[in-house]
Amino acid sequence: MQLRRVGVLGGGPGGLYAARLLKLARPSCDVIVYEQGEPGTTFGFGVGLAAGTQRNLAAADPDTLRDIVAAGRRHDMTMQVADRVVRVHNDRLIGIARTELLAVLQRHAEKAGVRLEFGTRRGAGDVDADTVIAADGISSATREDGDFGGTIEAGRGLYLWCGTDFPLADAVFAPAETEHGTFVTHAYPYSDGQSTFLIETDEQTWRRAGFEATTEQTPSDASDLSSLRYLQQAFAGPLGGRALIGNRTRWTRFRTVRCQRWSSERTVLLGDAAHTAHYSIGSGTKLAMEDAIALVEAMDAEPDAAGAFARYEAVRRPPVGRLQELARRSQLWWESFPSRLNVPVEQLLVAYMTRAGNVPLGRFAATNRRSSRPPWAGTPASTRPPRSCPPT
Ligand SMILES: Cc1cc2nc3c(=O)[nH]c(=O)nc-3n(C[C@H](O)[C@H](O)[C@H](O)COP(=O)(O)OP(=O)(O)OC[C@H]3O[C@@H](n4cnc5c(N)ncnc54)[C@H](O)[C@@H]3O)c2cc1C
Repeated sequence: MQLRRVGVLGGGPGGLYAARLLKLARPSCDVIVYEQGEPGTTFGFGVGLAAGTQRNLAAADPDTLRDIVAAGRRHDMTMQVADRVVRVHNDRLIGIARTELLAVLQRHAEKAGVRLEFGTRRGAGDVDADTVIAADGISSATREDGDFGGTIEAGRGLYLWCGTDFPLADAVFAPAETEHGTFVTHAYPYSDGQSTFLIETDEQTWRRAGFEATTEQTPSDASDLSSLRYLQQAFAGPLGGRALIGNRTRWTRFRTVRCQRWSSERTVLLGDAAHTAHYSIGSGTKLAMEDAIALVEAMDAEPDAAGAFARYEAVRRPPVGRLQELARRSQLWWESFPSRLNVPVEQLLVAYMTRAGNVPLGRFAATNRRSSRPPWAGTPASTRPPRSCPPT
């Protein structure tokens, strides 16, 4: 399609990657990214990128992937219940800080000739461009104000996205039982000095612990420090007694976004603006970046916007729908996690790995049998190094 000037709303992974790929495909097109935030500031901590995602990114843009992998950190996975720990080897999964990922993507976008305008909030209507790519995230104003048939389904449980200022040895999945109920963490290291530490719980436990009030009292640009203090005590074991840190961290219900249409006239939605998938399958960044690949290919292949947007949707709907279904199953599995606490931890890890139905039990067993390290060996926690030790 003819492209003279393209405006991208949102400098998250989806918007930045789409802008770079587009500029590489169409060097004469003027590509501008409008990002409301400033460089180096973003929400959250680290995100995980699986082997399949890395393969897809390598095929689309090997230079960017090389720098992402260099800035990321590999880790194995462990599940811990009381004093029992099991480990599963995974040498391709990387964790990377969102700030690092965005810095790599910003650098590569600029290198390709994309213009980045930070501190600039724009609406789809006030961009001077032939095409607007709306990569403005889960709370997309473009989606809310436009004709995309968007729906939002809020999860039953609540989560808190916090972090640590030391690297955990592996990814850790561990429950903490308190007088108010059960909290569960999914945590993993993503740099030599930091880990993501996601915590979730059910609504009753959240209320009993008094977190409805602390959530209300926390300003939108601050972190819920009362919850962080409570949880760092509850998770003192996996944390090795160290602190949890926040980054505008507050209790939230995960919102699953779906849209009947991903485009309207000159505007096309991409990433979280169009669809979300529960964080427990760690795929939102993947989906946003893979959307970018498909959108740019479609814009390059089709003679006009209608054809390009229809092709983009036809290519992306099946994998996005499939991942949203896997994410739904994974979300339900985690929401019912406390009822499985009496299951032997080895079985719990296998149930976790196969929870969404995309990793058949046979394949999981075969993959781990081929591994040069022990497959999933149960060991008492006391025989392992403290979880706060940096990996050797
Ligand atoms: C707790 C949690 C854990 C997660 N863990 C993982 C993980 O392990 N792996 C993974 O792949 N994904 C993970 N995700 C999902 C991932 O963070 C998102 O899916 C991903 O960031 C989506 O990218 P995006 O570019 O579509 O949107 P975003 O990253 O949200 O970027 C949107 C950008 O648009 C900007 N913006 C919004 N409106 C405007 C406007 N009007 N004008 C200008 N700028 C605007 C925002 O400031 C923001 O920078 C996780 C999400 C959560 C909540």
